[in-house]
Amino acid sequence: MSVFVNGNAIFNDARKGHYAVGAFNTNNLEWTRAILQGAQETNTPVLIQVSMGAAKYMGDYKLVKTLVEEEMRVMNITVPVVMHLDHGNYEAAKECIEAGYSSVMFDGHDLPFDENLEKTKEIVKLAHAKGISVEAEVGSIGGEEDGIVGAGELASVEEAKAIAATGCDYLACGIGNIHGPYPENWTGLNFDRLKEIADAIDTPLVLHGGSGIPQEQIEKAISLGVSKVNINTENQLAFAAATRKYIEEGGDQNGKGYDPRKLLNPGYNAIVDTVKEIIGWLGTPSVK
Ligand SMILES: [Zn+2]
Repeated sequence: MSVFVNGNAIFNDARKGHYAVGAFNTNNLEWTRAILQGAQETNTPVLIQVSMGAAKYMGDYKLVKTLVEEEMRVMNITVPVVMHLDHGNYEAAKECIEAGYSSVMFDGHDLPFDENLEKTKEIVKLAHAKGISVEAEVGSIGGEEDGIVGAGELASVEEAKAIAATGCDYLACGIGNIHGPYPENWTGLNFDRLKEIADAIDTPLVLHGGSGIPQEQIEKAISLGVSKVNINTENQLAFAAATRKYIEEGGDQNGKGYDPRKLLNPGYNAIVDTVKEIIGWLGTPSVK
């Protein structure tokens, strides 16, 4: 039996309860443990996701799933954990359905719309047969992630309705959000479009590029129907800053401070703190 839960109930409850659940990208062993620790300490459900590029970096999809699973065992993790593929293409989504993920994103936003719709339908059918939840995407998220550059066009309400009708469990829609740091001339989230989409469909909505969006905009997006907020850059910046500080203060030259378990520890703790802080922002309630 899988140790993972799918995202369906978690995000439906979140949408009804007007809060969100964080989806944190993992990159390696430290990231995996830090995300799990942050969720366990706040006693809240969590979604660990891996991008195609990060899975390749770590080995493959199965290795990532096994790592998360085994860390849950040795860390005695008791909160619900969703194992999710972030921004998968058609092949990657199928591979993760086979590998035992409990949730997959099929991102067909760069395909012609009819093809995105058809392939989303297929993935939903394959995934639901195994109790796996599916995230789909309409419009696009601006910025760059793993070499995929999105211009950031707004999702149309009609397209969102058509994709939601495939039975996908949650839906990412472009509303002016961007992957990576936000440029200074960024005009903010398009709340009018978000509201139009949220009024038209009951599907929980996903906000990608959550790092760097001001807290009050995230809270407003959640109040309008966003239930899943993706966080990647925030943890990367926190890890880099803490590691830089440790080295600049000579930590690595102090005794055996160069030992990787010591060298990576400040960054690790920074991720735990960031995860806990973000879970607080999202208003994720504790599990009973
Ligand atoms: Zn994304």
